[in-house]
Amino acid sequence: MSTQPTWAIETSGLVKVYGRTRAVDGLDLKVPAGLVYGILGPNGAGKSTTIRMLATLLRPDGGTARIFGHDVLGEPDSVRRRISVTGQYASVDEGLTGLENLVLMGRLQGYSWARARARATELIDGFGLGDARDRLLRTYSGGMRRRLDIAASIVVTPDLLFLDEPTTGLDPRSRTQVWDIVRALVEAGTTVLLTTQYLDEADQLADRIAVIDQGRVIAEGTTGELKSSLGSDVLRLRLQDARWRPEAERFLSAELGVTVHPGSDPTTLTARVTDTQAVMRALAGLSRTAVEVRDFSLGQSSLDEVFLALTGHKADDQHTGKTSEEEAA
Ligand code: ADP
Repeated sequence: MSTQPTWAIETSGLVKVYGRTRAVDGLDLKVPAGLVYGILGPNGAGKSTTIRMLATLLRPDGGTARIFGHDVLGEPDSVRRRISVTGQYASVDEGLTGLENLVLMGRLQGYSWARARARATELIDGFGLGDARDRLLRTYSGGMRRRLDIAASIVVTPDLLFLDEPTTGLDPRSRTQVWDIVRALVEAGTTVLLTTQYLDEADQLADRIAVIDQGRVIAEGTTGELKSSLGSDVLRLRLQDARWRPEAERFLSAELGVTVHPGSDPTTLTARVTDTQAVMRALAGLSRTAVEVRDFSLGQSSLDEVFLALTGHKADDQHTGKTSEEEAA
């Protein structure tokens, strides 16, 4: 009797080596079905290499990976039947129209002309590309093109969709459109593995996140768990005038016994704090000095702060932007 595998993706000690680079260096992942799972990491962290191995496009050098219980090396056909990949490998044709591309994709998957056309029309309308259906793909803007790439990868609805940096290089409006598409897919039952170097994207979309750096998982959990893992809140303070900052910094670090950091704006300060009562007392004390406070907030750490604390560098330190948005429309 076969039991239903628990995990959409399960890897153990997964390794990929390129020369002296350990692109993926002992990766352990457990991805439950039915949600958006984010792999968050800076450029070069090993995200694409991981996806390529999980999607049977690249042979691991060590460890194991199973997709819905099927081994990527031992049962690649069973894996391929359940998955689809989009992102950096989409095989759409620039010289065809949007609709033609989707019809062709359906035909390649064994659909009749009628069925392929019906599915293509349904998708192109559903993705807000109805007006552009008869335009050649090469005239699409970056955001339209990305939506068509995703549509092309779900002509046959996969159980698991790999989305490799789906919004890198997109303008904010196109990003939210792609996010809506991803949410709708998950609603309809697809599990989505999303890689991103954008913390806000992981925060908005992913139910769980694995933070990876140099080919390894360095933290895992829901966004809430990751943010509270620092065990502290962040006090953010804005002063009426930048000239008071040195005094405020001295006063607060003495009162709170923590390091107070200058913000990027010359009137702001931040500090990681654990004792709310002490913060209230320190702010009351500060109000009796010459320093004038404009406003302050005490809140959960952002994912940026989590990433910085975990890795010692910012998530977007190595931003290069793999694609650029060309609003040709
Ligand atoms: P990410 O997707 O997180 O940006 P990648 O998986 O593309 O990271 O790359 C991880 C590391 O492996 C990087 O150091 C990259 O330069 C290296 N790498 C990736 N693909 C190759 C390749 N085909 N040949 C040599 N090195 C590679």
